[in-house]
Amino acid sequence: MSAQNLKISKLYYAVDGTREPFEALFPADDFVALPLTGPIAVKGELMRVEEGIMLLMHELEATQMGNCGFCEKPLKQALQFHPSEWLYHEEKPLDYDDSDEALFLDKKQLELDPYEPVRQELILHIDPAPHCPKTCKEFAEPERGVKALSKLKEIL
Ligand SMILES: [Zn+2]
Repeated sequence: MSAQNLKISKLYYAVDGTREPFEALFPADDFVALPLTGPIAVKGELMRVEEGIMLLMHELEATQMGNCGFCEKPLKQALQFHPSEWLYHEEKPLDYDDSDEALFLDKKQLELDPYEPVRQELILHIDPAPHCPKTCKEFAEPERGVKALSKLKEIL
């Protein structure tokens, strides 16, 4: 499907615990709904496990763009991530329910698509209310910029 699909033709037949490094690069256009700029780079390892293949995401690099919620200055900030683990099932689990949204590997093509875990990590870590790191930090509020500004007007 996508150009970033990762080949697992060796790993699929390897013994449990076998690891293989991987890297993938996504253009920001792949995540049109998210306020990102520049490529999104992901690095990690794939590991054969009993249930399928575990994707160990060690590093994710992405840059968010937006405007400061207080002064509206344009901002670019690197997102911070922690390592995460994602299981691609080989078979549907016995108690599988379509609402589970589990990940599956492609046993015909012997590859897996890293897009969905990357998208979910990005959504989790995007700052919903970005602001200038120093000057506007003390004014930062959970609400979006428009609200913060209207409150300021009330104070003045
Ligand atoms: Zn600001």
